[in-house]
Amino acid sequence: MPIAAERVIPADLLDIYKKVEKQERLSVEDGVRLYQHPDLTAVGKMANIVRERLHGKRTYFVRNQHINYTNICNKFCKFCSFYAKKGGPDPYEFTIEEVKRRLEWHRDVEITEVHMVGGINPRLPYSYYMDLVRAVKEVLPGVHVKAFTAVEIEEIARVGKVTHEQALKDLIEAGLDSLPGGGIEVLSDRVHQELFGRKLDGEGWKSVARAAAGLGLLQYATMLYGHIETDFERADHLRQLRELQDETGHFVCFTPLSFHPEGTDLPDIKPMTGYTDLRNIAVARLMLDNFSHIKSFWIMNTPEVTQASLWYGADDTDGLVHEYEITYKEGEFGNKSQALTYDNMCHMIREAGREPVERDSLYQEIVRPAVVEARGRTLTPVAMAQ
Ligand code: SF4
Repeated sequence: MPIAAERVIPADLLDIYKKVEKQERLSVEDGVRLYQHPDLTAVGKMANIVRERLHGKRTYFVRNQHINYTNICNKFCKFCSFYAKKGGPDPYEFTIEEVKRRLEWHRDVEITEVHMVGGINPRLPYSYYMDLVRAVKEVLPGVHVKAFTAVEIEEIARVGKVTHEQALKDLIEAGLDSLPGGGIEVLSDRVHQELFGRKLDGEGWKSVARAAAGLGLLQYATMLYGHIETDFERADHLRQLRELQDETGHFVCFTPLSFHPEGTDLPDIKPMTGYTDLRNIAVARLMLDNFSHIKSFWIMNTPEVTQASLWYGADDTDGLVHEYEITYKEGEFGNKSQALTYDNMCHMIREAGREPVERDSLYQEIVRPAVVEARGRTLTPVAMAQ
């Protein structure tokens, strides 16, 4: 017998619960209350209602590889530990041949998506970006290329002396399939000025998103949380994304990304905890009523928090994720290739009581012949070796 909402949802959240039940839009004030309410379980319970309404137990992942083609950057964002600096990472810049070599490393994994982002390196010519995309399609024909934040698109347009639209058109012609989001961190002028004033601002970011949508490019969206942003700024970021989605309809998925202070100019900020990670996933699921998917990026959130997040609004774990460099910590995963095998991904999801579904970049299910065969023998994908 279902438990009455009043027994699991505190009285001061019942008005929000009723909106969730009736599928009504939440306000920014509702979002702030959800960020601040002490009963995280109740917030998660409401987010789970939305998650199960949309996806049931299904939990998506993709076979993907990341290419971070350069860490040379002239933006000096205070929250960033990725770019080359004195006392930090050594500078690098991949040649096209090096990118091809890296793509060859994981041919056995049948990667369906390559995710490429990098620093803003003014030495790279316009043709480099087109060649990057072409190189991926040459080595892995048919793979989905998700590449370049709006900040990179602005740089590509600048160096090519063309408009954003023209840069995007040339990239699409080279093989670009979607934009990964990122680059704006939090849509707040205050945070922009304090932490990443050299990058394009919120209006600039939206302008690139609109131009990409006008050309039919699907996009993803993110929020970097856990630095200097307030609860209001978080909720307002979600509102702005929701409005942009109302306008363009081109966002596929939202991913909250936690700030990691090590190696940044903000070393005194306390690292995020699983508690905050779960809350950001849950509030995003509740606020972003026009986004189909909410992702828990397991590399940042850890597999353990990602398992819990599948009951707090997340329906996606990202993927097998080969070669991610941006928040890599020496020794954290035992080697430089941070990856889950197909078996481990399925196990992680099933152990959490959810159903693993391999997807492509557009969330179409991929059913491999081996999986069909195994189902015929009533085995689960987990029972198979990759
Ligand atoms: Fe550069 Fe991106 Fe790091 Fe900012 S976040 S410093 S733009 S690599």
